[in-house]
Amino acid sequence: MEKIYDVVIIGGGPAGLAAGLYSARAKMSTLILEKDKTGGQIASTEEVANYPGSIEHATGPSLVARMVDQCKEFGAAIEKDTIKEVQVNDKIKVLVGEKATYKARAIIAAPGASPRLLGVPGEKELTGKGVSYCATCDADFFTDFEVFVVGGGDSAVEEAMFLTRFARKVTIVHRREELKAAKSIQEKAFKNPKIDFMWNSTIEEIKGDGIVEAVTFKNLVTGETTEYKADEEDGTFGIFVFVGYNPQTEIFKGILDMDAVGYFITDDNMKTNVPGVFAAGDCRVKTLRQVVTAVSDGAIAAVQAEKYIDHNFHE
Ligand code: NAP
Repeated sequence: MEKIYDVVIIGGGPAGLAAGLYSARAKMSTLILEKDKTGGQIASTEEVANYPGSIEHATGPSLVARMVDQCKEFGAAIEKDTIKEVQVNDKIKVLVGEKATYKARAIIAAPGASPRLLGVPGEKELTGKGVSYCATCDADFFTDFEVFVVGGGDSAVEEAMFLTRFARKVTIVHRREELKAAKSIQEKAFKNPKIDFMWNSTIEEIKGDGIVEAVTFKNLVTGETTEYKADEEDGTFGIFVFVGYNPQTEIFKGILDMDAVGYFITDDNMKTNVPGVFAAGDCRVKTLRQVVTAVSDGAIAAVQAEKYIDHNFHE
């Protein structure tokens, strides 16, 4: 007979892994499905300085590795698959993946969010060829090169600081003249001698033949455009884009309630509008998207899923 899991979790980031831990520890058969690399955004974050207890220079990948081990220790299964469709009308929910179809008594949607693109000419063509959305993954390629970081939030400024360990110069390109990042993060960046700022500016176009060779900036105050060309000896430079994230909630469109941007609307117990379907982490409407709030959501969702299953299947 086809296996019916108690809980299937979509997403293997901190929210999904915390949900998996709590679900498996509650002796529910638990499957975590991740389409990409386990850990979500945190897996590509070098320093996790604000997760309580994460001192001694814990990195994103090391934190994720411990979360994964802990989940598995309690019996949660973790598999790689991309869910294409969900059917939630019946008591047993069905998740159709690229590799298999899964059945569950309850679903926890923790799909996270993916990097927002600039949407300028050349960006897509040159992604992985000088344009990057992950400093941890690609910083090393730019050792002793110049790098531009687009954005003014926590991600942009923190990743810019990380990039200074590799690049000879890092310029933060921000569309306003004030950063959005937390003051404590800003202070460190302003003190960093390798970081420069290009205020009131955006990128209009990225150019290059198979590799980034030039970029056109626009000053939003004066309207002036300037082209920056790679140093002749270098031949290229890096453009790291950190302009926010979009929730990865498309497969639930028309099924789960969302806000205008696509974030799931839940109550404090992570309940969505569909009984037996919970949501956790960055995919949810919330005021603070951090590892600490993601794991909290995951734990609450799993406990609520247990109550739901008890009430609907075991009475
Ligand atoms: P964010 O806070 O949404 O910031 C996005 C930045 O990109 C903003 O400065 C925004 O400009 C700029 N931007 C947006 N669209 C743009 C466009 N099309 N062109 C140019 N610039 C654009 O995103 P984030 O920095 O990735 O952070 C996401 C969440 O994760 C936040 O809640 C953040 O606090 C959290 N986070 C926390 C930490 C930490 O605490 N250590 C680290 C990383 C992320 P404006 O300022 O003008 O809107």
